[in-house]
Amino acid sequence: MPRKIAAGNWKMNGTAEDLLQLTALSSAHPDPTVDVIICPPATLISQARTNAGKIGIGGQDCNTAVSGAHTGEISASMMKAAGATSIIVGHSERRTDHGESDALIAKKAQAAYAAGLVAIICIGETLAEREAGTTLDVMDVQLAGSVPDDATAANTVIAYEPVWAIGTGKVPSTEQIAEVHAHIRRVLKVRFADANEIPLLYGGSVKDSNAAEIFAVDNVDGALVGGASLKAVDFSPIISALEKA
Ligand code: PEP
Repeated sequence: MPRKIAAGNWKMNGTAEDLLQLTALSSAHPDPTVDVIICPPATLISQARTNAGKIGIGGQDCNTAVSGAHTGEISASMMKAAGATSIIVGHSERRTDHGESDALIAKKAQAAYAAGLVAIICIGETLAEREAGTTLDVMDVQLAGSVPDDATAANTVIAYEPVWAIGTGKVPSTEQIAEVHAHIRRVLKVRFADANEIPLLYGGSVKDSNAAEIFAVDNVDGALVGGASLKAVDFSPIISALEKA
């Protein structure tokens, strides 16, 4: 069985005072039976690490280089040194706002591996692609292009995040999630011997009210959560739902 993961992406939200949320989350889950990860802005990784107890800390993006003349960029190894153990790559907001290609995302995942970090690689279709009936084709292209050949169950997590479900309150049906997750698993099995162990997360408007239903879907090993990860009171029941799933 893949390990279960509840990951929170704070995006460009949070200053030091918001780490109280992490302290509260850690107090509510001192010994979680699933992996819990919070990805705060890079400015908070180091402080977050000291507030997080058994909660893992992740980054939200990285440069492909280890160091050098890349103003404003942060490398995977720098985030590792600050206390991160994983890093999100290929989030749809990076793909859209920064024009990131699958090839670039694969290089970022490899930079994460080289730094000893787990890459949480995001894929997902737009509403237009869903309506055109091309969702599974989009998954094929994104999996082929953004998951490196040296991915393993130990260094990689795949997050299926339909772009139209992120931050919108819209959630695919459990049948739609099941179809895509089963497809992702099939595609990974062709390339990776340990594909059955690679955690597959669903992301997109996950909240307390829908978490249990989503976690009951085959091949859903957890969630990547945006808005509902910002407050301990919202994220804690999602963690509990995953622990019970
Ligand atoms: C995300 O940005 O990865 C995400 C899933 O956001 P939200 O939970 O707010 O839809």
